Amino acid sequence: MGKGFFRVPVAKNEPVLSYAPGTKERENVLQAYKSMYNSKIEVPLYINGEHIKSGDTQTMNPPHDHQHSVGTYHTANKKHVELAISTALEARKTWANLPWEQRAGIFLRAAELIAGPYRAKINAATMIAQSKTVHQAEIDAACEFIDFLRFNVQFMTEIYADQPKSTSDAWNRIEYRPLEGFTYAVTPFNFTAIAGNLPACMALMGNVVVWKPSDSQVYSAKVIMDVFNEAGIPPGVINVVFGDPVMITDTILSSPDFSGLHFTGSTFVFKELWKQIGTHIHHFKTYPRIVGETGGKDFIVAHQSANPKQVATGIVRGAFEFQGQKCSAASRAYIPESLWPKVKSYLLEDIASIKIGSPEDLSNFMTAVIHEGSFDKIAKYIDAAKKSSDAEIIAGGGYDKSKGYFIEPTVILTTNPKYETMCTELFGPVITIYIYKDKDYAKTLTLVDETSEYALTGAIFSADRYAANQATEALVNAAGNFYINDKPTGAVVGQQPFGGARASGTNDKAGSAQNLLRWISPRMIKETFVSPEDYRYPFLD
Ligand code: NAD
Repeated sequence: MGKGFFRVPVAKNEPVLSYAPGTKERENVLQAYKSMYNSKIEVPLYINGEHIKSGDTQTMNPPHDHQHSVGTYHTANKKHVELAISTALEARKTWANLPWEQRAGIFLRAAELIAGPYRAKINAATMIAQSKTVHQAEIDAACEFIDFLRFNVQFMTEIYADQPKSTSDAWNRIEYRPLEGFTYAVTPFNFTAIAGNLPACMALMGNVVVWKPSDSQVYSAKVIMDVFNEAGIPPGVINVVFGDPVMITDTILSSPDFSGLHFTGSTFVFKELWKQIGTHIHHFKTYPRIVGETGGKDFIVAHQSANPKQVATGIVRGAFEFQGQKCSAASRAYIPESLWPKVKSYLLEDIASIKIGSPEDLSNFMTAVIHEGSFDKIAKYIDAAKKSSDAEIIAGGGYDKSKGYFIEPTVILTTNPKYETMCTELFGPVITIYIYKDKDYAKTLTLVDETSEYALTGAIFSADRYAANQATEALVNAAGNFYINDKPTGAVVGQQPFGGARASGTNDKAGSAQNLLRWISPRMIKETFVSPEDYRYPFLD
């Protein structure tokens, strides 16, 4: 920026549209859904602004109707990944030097394209690819993604404005350089917004990116690339390779120019990637930045003073929306004995009213889980609970994959607070509940803290301030996002920056300046106005 200190538009959260009967947005999204569902597309690789068809394809099938195909996508071989790296490095020469306001303009334009002409399309794509209800698609693919793009532009300018003190004889300034080399984004299936944000926020800070989306999110990843292209991202800045994650990662890490990993996905994969980066450390030109937001075993604790209806609603929304496939989804709950009869009755009543099916039918609250592997894994835990003497299934427990990967909202009641489904992330519509004696509140908080390796989200429901405070203190390291009298899901960019510690990730808070700081390498420039001409100091006299 050479000719002005520009101010960007003040970032505002995108309002969530209702999709109530009779609304224009409902009509638009259903029309987009029908037309996309009933046609077939071919998704290429995106390298250097070109659409590359490798000829090696996979089909795309909606999880709620797995025999139906919405098209194919091309997968990369080693040469494609190498090309993505070399074109990214070439693009860096101009992209890293482009004035920031030009980069900001591209991403602000992308936000408005999603808010307007692409809204129905990106939501319908997310409903098809990831089986989200329209509300879940709207809060993710439209609103959260728009918020990431708008807020990150504002955070970038706040970072740039942060400058050191100067004196009358020396001017100190910091420039926030992008990382030297190229960065690598690896994204999960479950949020279109995360898939778009991970590469976009690194590119916004001047980096070039090779992006590997999840195989189960390719259909909506294509719409993201349509938006980025229309917004004017220059060729080579964000390159997309689909396919074998092991081969792609091996190829990326064999380049000495690899400078950062921006990952969201499961804990095991992230730890393996970290290990692999470590074994290559001697051949990288810089120490790569490693940011990963990973799994969770998120909790709801109710105190005896809590409102049972609110606790039940928190459980239903927290555990079953998007079939429990949110890293923040409530998957274990601790309810006091005295409150349980009421919580149970509200919970069972709510669950009995939940409809499951295709996202095209807007009266469905739940749809299918993402793929057969996930379905089989969750079914295995449900079957084990049916047989266990430690567990009892009090709601749901049914599943059927004949048409789509449908699993009923399931509640397991356990007498063993360390029962397997109290500790392991299942990533499905299953919550396990442990009933504790009212007098054991303090002990239960210790139990919550020590039960799982994760520390992502958690919630306390309590009308008693002392009890809420006790939980806030006892669970200080048990969650990176902690909720009082609310469900542990639904973080909003600019309001609740998101991330957890322990095995849940590096806690670099997606949607905050803290995350953007990981993608820059500051250069300090000191300019002395009158340079000394004698090396001797007065004390030498
Ligand atoms: P996943 O770990 O299976 O896949 C994530 C990405 O890693 C995908 O792109 C996948 O292809 C890639 N991958 C898989 N194996 C790899 C390998 N060996 N090398 C390199 N890349 C590899 O996760 P998922 O099923 O897509 O997403 C669900 C997981 O993500 C859950 O554990 C959830 O908790 C977590 N998640 C966390 C957050 C968060 O903010 N903490 C947000 C969303 C999802």
